[in-house]
Amino acid sequence: MKADIHPNYNEVNVTCACGNTFKAGSVKDELKVEICSECHPFFTGRQKFAERGGRVEKFKKKYNRD
Ligand SMILES: [Zn+2]
Repeated sequence: MKADIHPNYNEVNVTCACGNTFKAGSVKDELKVEICSECHPFFTGRQKFAERGGRVEKFKKKYNRD
């Protein structure tokens, strides 16, 4: 019976673009990600989408003046 099926699989520090760090299993020494559970819209809720929507409305108003 094999006790170690992933000899190079270890726990590494993952650094996200938002500054959040967390541990994850990887064969690499370190990991860098662009998005994580802390900053992903799916996890942070829909506030960002609402904000973006507001900006779009502003944009439309600005360029729809006649
Ligand atoms: Zn993040």
